[in-house]
Amino acid sequence: MQFDIDKILALLAEEVRDYAVPVVDLIAVQTHDPYRILIATILSARTRDETTARAAARLFKAAPDLAHLALLAEEELARLIQPVGFFRTKARHLAQLPGVLRARFGGVIPQSVEELCELPGVGRKTANLVVAVAFGKPAICVDTHVHRIMNIWGYVATRTPLETERALRAKLPAQHWRSVNSILVAFGQGTCRPVAPCCDRCLIAACCPKIGVTPRKRAKNEGKAMPANAKKFVSWNVNGLRAVEKKGFVEILSELDADIFALQEIKAMPEQLPESLLNIPGYTSHWFPAQKKGYAGVAIYTKSAPLRVISGIDHHDHDYEGRVLTLEFADFYFVNAYFPNAQHGLTRMDYKLRFNDDLLAFLDHCAREKSVVVCGDFNVAHREIDLANPKQNEKNPGFTPEERAWMDKFLAAGYLDTFRLFNQEPGQYTWWSYRANARARNIGWRIDYFCVDKKSAARVQDAAILPGILGSDHCPVTLSFV
Ligand code: SF4
Repeated sequence: MQFDIDKILALLAEEVRDYAVPVVDLIAVQTHDPYRILIATILSARTRDETTARAAARLFKAAPDLAHLALLAEEELARLIQPVGFFRTKARHLAQLPGVLRARFGGVIPQSVEELCELPGVGRKTANLVVAVAFGKPAICVDTHVHRIMNIWGYVATRTPLETERALRAKLPAQHWRSVNSILVAFGQGTCRPVAPCCDRCLIAACCPKIGVTPRKRAKNEGKAMPANAKKFVSWNVNGLRAVEKKGFVEILSELDADIFALQEIKAMPEQLPESLLNIPGYTSHWFPAQKKGYAGVAIYTKSAPLRVISGIDHHDHDYEGRVLTLEFADFYFVNAYFPNAQHGLTRMDYKLRFNDDLLAFLDHCAREKSVVVCGDFNVAHREIDLANPKQNEKNPGFTPEERAWMDKFLAAGYLDTFRLFNQEPGQYTWWSYRANARARNIGWRIDYFCVDKKSAARVQDAAILPGILGSDHCPVTLSFV
């Protein structure tokens, strides 16, 4: 198949017809109201569509037009639009918006990209989208998906969305300008995802050059229906809970809808956290921070109340670092662990190996009574398949012979690495350095695990990695367990 942009976009327009419609397009179809389209577009930045739709509905109920918006205080706006990404900043911009519109544009929403860019919180992407969707004028909105996919196709060779917008203005036939964003946002969310795109089921795979892409590998249990009584567990090293909150943590948690959601490296005391993190509807939360502020710490959100909460492993060498939090349920222990890092120069290797052995003794003790699920950041890639560059990292923390030998010992002691029960493919990682564009290039490590004691193997239904969830240098891992 030749790469013919007209045919490709026509095919994809047909393909994404059944996908969820981007929320801004939905609001445009429902209302044709520039005010609502502008507001929804502002809310939608760095936010999932479902969350934008719910926040927009709450806001439009209180402020159906600009006049009513002008009556709302910034705090009230923040309350209404939470938890959209950067909701405090967006609330500030929304509070300023009626005044700026009155002062500069006679209270009317302007119709050009340049004028729209003068409004608080409106960048080129938002402005182009409003011009195209609200006013039906030629404009090319370049969302991150458009920028990414156009480069994957080699249709443009650009480094930034602005460069892509300029290149598309010069090259893309005008009939696609208004529709290309909606099509590629839906396609980028559904099939051509930012990490591990689904090339195996992509209808344009035959003609796509797949520039810079590492396609997903299908897991052998993909599509298998879970038993109705399966519980969903998620584990995520958030690398700072307050930081990840600003990147949509509450929304991610609600979207994943796990029965138990375990966090490592929260780097905060509960008293430093806002109500929006301490009391998430539907969950109770349990916290075990490090004594040192801004360091380590673990937490668990759970839908079902545990019989008992065990903070630490009753060992004075470790418990002040906030590394292990256990919930006891009727028929299993859920252990959330943040293993130490051996550190540069392997200065903490001895400590790490002592912690590992003490934790193993604790797990064995629990496993004598009932099933054990242990999850978290183990801070070790077990085998060569578990990191992108094994040879270069043999002497580096996280892949030394000592740390890998402990992982051998742990598995030999009767625990299962659940992810490898379902997936034997390389390139499956849970952590990527922030340096050298490692995540986009999938130069990563698999160091986050869900393990169970061997006797409970039959209770494991599925295990997966969620590399598409951003916000931390780790991504979440999951387990389905009956
Ligand atoms: S083949 Fe893969 S990379 Fe190309 S468009 Fe389809 S999903 Fe994206």
